[in-house]
Amino acid sequence: MYFAAQKLGRQLARDSNYIVQHIDAAAAERRQILMRLNNLKSNQCNSNTLIEMRRALFDAQYVIDIGFFTDDQLVCTTGAGKLARTITDNPPDYIRTDTQTNTPVRVRYEPQLYLLLFTSRAMEVIIVRQGNYNLIIDTRAFNDKVIESTQWQVIYKSTDKMFHLAGKNGTYEQVKNSAFLPYESIIKCSTNNPGYCTAAKLPWSQFFADNQFLLIISLILISLAGVSSGLLVDYSLAARRSTITRVRKGLKKGSFYWTYQPIICLRTGKVVGCEALARFEDKYGVLFPDQFIPIIRKANLTWRFTQVMIDKVIKELSTLEVLPSKFKISINIFPCDVETGNVALLKDIPVLTDSRFIICLEITEDEYLDSTVAHAHFKALVEAGFNLSIDDFGTGYSNLKNLQNLSFHQLKIDRTFVQDITTEGLKASMIPNIMELVRKFNYTCVAEGIETNEQEAILKLAGVHYGQGWKYAKPMALYDFKTYLISQKF
Ligand code: C2E
Ligand code: MG
Ligand code: MG
Repeated sequence: MYFAAQKLGRQLARDSNYIVQHIDAAAAERRQILMRLNNLKSNQCNSNTLIEMRRALFDAQYVIDIGFFTDDQLVCTTGAGKLARTITDNPPDYIRTDTQTNTPVRVRYEPQLYLLLFTSRAMEVIIVRQGNYNLIIDTRAFNDKVIESTQWQVIYKSTDKMFHLAGKNGTYEQVKNSAFLPYESIIKCSTNNPGYCTAAKLPWSQFFADNQFLLIISLILISLAGVSSGLLVDYSLAARRSTITRVRKGLKKGSFYWTYQPIICLRTGKVVGCEALARFEDKYGVLFPDQFIPIIRKANLTWRFTQVMIDKVIKELSTLEVLPSKFKISINIFPCDVETGNVALLKDIPVLTDSRFIICLEITEDEYLDSTVAHAHFKALVEAGFNLSIDDFGTGYSNLKNLQNLSFHQLKIDRTFVQDITTEGLKASMIPNIMELVRKFNYTCVAEGIETNEQEAILKLAGVHYGQGWKYAKPMALYDFKTYLISQKF
């Protein structure tokens, strides 16, 4: 666009220079002819006067006819010779003083002049009268193919008025009032002939029509600029909305909240505890645990997240007077925090250690949990009063031999085993084996993802102690959980 604007500007400058050159040339021609003829000091139109007038016309480029006046009466012209009847001159549009001779110059624009010689043809001319002579100046000389501007005008400006002389009337006024787009118009005044100016306009549309190559290049560049700025905007938006940024910010701004899903004793049907399950919502929408949990892990935010969770969950549940003491609150702990040792810090969090509830830490199976350091951490946590539960049992790393050494209290059968019950799949057939281990190592057992009575009945028969799932209740926000608890017997 910059280069196109430069080119358009140059074209307009060329046109306006060309027109001003014509103005100066026409003015010079006018001055030269009138000075010479007036210097002849003829006070009547005789054959000598006519010959001199015709001689002057012969060399002229702009002047197409010359007339001779006595007392405001046209007496003869180069075209028609001596007139049978004199013609009274029309008043001029403006009168200016010729600086060289200090005599008045009368100028009139005539849109349709019928020359005495060519009465069938009307011409657009400027009539200039000085002394005994007038000149008919043809403005078509300005109007040849050289000018590319679609609109132009020549004017004469006196101190308080403007007079049209050639081209399209009104153009100068429009350009002066900035009626056009940038770069598509110009005003230029003659320095040799003060007061004479031109205004020209070459619209962008016309310019591009004549310079299609430039248009194509400009369009390509504009679209490239558009695409790249679009990409930039998209990129920054995407960056802002990227899950990792949302999670990071959400942790600071409180976009995480916790829902509570009851855990039921299968034998009595009573609520014995709940699991706290994280939820996320910010101005861009909701993120699900399978979206934000891996990110929290990847961004090393696990411990920070667990701290926020503990603070929020224990504070919220402590407000529920309906909850009996020894109510079991299960919270999920990242296995990587066992590996880093962060998990040992749980013993130093008073809201946990001083709580009236039993705090159960759910940890999914992981290779690391088998290490001596991990075993030491677990032992210390149990001594500090925590319950430990293997989450999603049967889905991850299972070293059944070591179950005994883990100091765990509970085993949580993954919901895929429960869901398999209805279809009598391979996983479901393993439930009795799992229960054998549970009994052998004196664990309690929770089955998660119980949705139907049938599942519940089979699990109960297999000896599963507790159940969690939509059959009882979906995870609920605190207020709904409270309402739910009030309707339950403990
Ligand atoms: P999880 O600890 O095994 O949690 C149980 C998942 O089973 C939850 O999914 C729960 O909504 C879903 N569930 C419960 N009952 C049913 C049922 O009857 N049918 C079905 N189909 N699903 C049921 P959710 O809430 O999407 O959580 C997914 C996992 O995200 C959790 O699995 C846990 O590993 C992790 N998670 C959730 N909140 C936290 C948290 O605060 N901290 C940590 N470390 N992990 C969390
Ligand atoms: Mg869990
Ligand atoms: Mg689970």
